[in-house]
Amino acid sequence: MAVTNARVAIAGGSLGGLTAGNLLRDLGLDVTIYERSPHELSERGAGIGFLPDAARYLVERQGIALDDISTSTGLIRYLHRDGTVAHEREHRYHFSSWNTVFRNLRSSYANGGGRYELGREATGLRQDADTATVDFADGSSVEADLVVCADGVGSVFRAQLLPDAHRTYAGYVAWRGMVREDELPLDVAEQLGIAITYYFHANSQILVYPIPGADGSLEPGKRLINFVWYRNYKEGDDLTDVMTDESGVVHDTTLPPGFARPEHVAEMRAHADARLPALISTVIEATREPFIQAVYDLSIDQMAFGRACLVGDAGVVMRPHAAAGTAKAGANGWGLYEALSTYDTIPEALAAWDPQQVEIGRKLAQRTQRLGYRSQVLSNWDAPDDDTLFRLRDEGP
Ligand SMILES: Cc1cc2nc3c(=O)[nH]c(=O)nc-3n(C[C@H](O)[C@H](O)[C@H](O)COP(=O)(O)OP(=O)(O)OC[C@H]3O[C@@H](n4cnc5c(N)ncnc54)[C@H](O)[C@@H]3O)c2cc1C
Repeated sequence: MAVTNARVAIAGGSLGGLTAGNLLRDLGLDVTIYERSPHELSERGAGIGFLPDAARYLVERQGIALDDISTSTGLIRYLHRDGTVAHEREHRYHFSSWNTVFRNLRSSYANGGGRYELGREATGLRQDADTATVDFADGSSVEADLVVCADGVGSVFRAQLLPDAHRTYAGYVAWRGMVREDELPLDVAEQLGIAITYYFHANSQILVYPIPGADGSLEPGKRLINFVWYRNYKEGDDLTDVMTDESGVVHDTTLPPGFARPEHVAEMRAHADARLPALISTVIEATREPFIQAVYDLSIDQMAFGRACLVGDAGVVMRPHAAAGTAKAGANGWGLYEALSTYDTIPEALAAWDPQQVEIGRKLAQRTQRLGYRSQVLSNWDAPDDDTLFRLRDEGP
């Protein structure tokens, strides 16, 4: 028993949309991805913790070795202010970059003959018992049997389907950036290349880890050292000011590379110089274009709606402390694949898929909120413990 001969429209062609697109095409369904961006997405991503659900399609279905698309570290290391080691624990993590994962998922999809249309901005959805219709900003529309909404944190579909679901600012942002290993002093690159390195100070944490180079290179020297620094900004003027670029535009969730105002970059660098271990402030000093992602919470208790479903960041939005955003998008896609392989009709499959996916998101949101509170409010995240490990589910990977 399985759903067959179905037309699938996927809105959003990033990691969530592409994972679902690849899997549903493998199932023999007639899939088209509609991406808002007029140009191929590229070159904007920094590091991602590469958890099993994020890597699963490329490893299981494309036979790509995990070590060919990710770096790995064998230690979790916490530093004292003077740079000496406060705590150390052996633990294997894999890290990749948005670019590397996107490139591989995109070429798998293209090689399988998948249709991917750029410049297609969806505006909403209509459906009855038999079909769903996606409307686009250019006035066109497409009919489908299943609509997968993978349009990210600002999802137009979520806004339409769950008008009361609003995201809440968590009180802090992540300053992020990366620098090539060979642009750092050799000993700095070597020390930061073998571990995920944390430093905690009052109401703030920074973590640093190696990721593939911009072209996917895993060669030492060409890899990047990536940092994520959580810093508190009060909601209102304080947040608005840091998210405002030189031309006065206020950016909503992400202030892209090159857009942070010089006074904020200077303040961030001065803070790093004064308050962080030199090993880490060296990376910040060497990063040319740091960028910012504001941290939000948004939990929902329904992800399937008749013939439509919300996947990835279009569904639950959680804080990044579990490094599980791409893994959750992957799990949503695999769950969809399994449900459509099991049930005869799309509404039945989605009804079975929904509670499992809602539960994954609910628990992940709870854990990441707890971790954010420990870091940014209580300041008592002092040593690595099991709650702080990167993973999608409370138990398991
Ligand atoms: C360019 C880019 C770089 C990223 N870099 C990182 C990173 O370095 N580290 C990290 O952890 N996460 C990064 N992310 C986010 C990460 O990919 C997501 O958290 C996670 O993979 C879930 O992906 P998603 O596909 O659900 O959402 P997203 O990756 O946000 O993708 C949503 C997609 O939908 C498209 N879209 C939005 N609205 C519409 C619409 N109305 N109609 C059609 N299409 C629409 C967007 O253009 C985008 O391609 C990045 C996302 C993007 C787009």
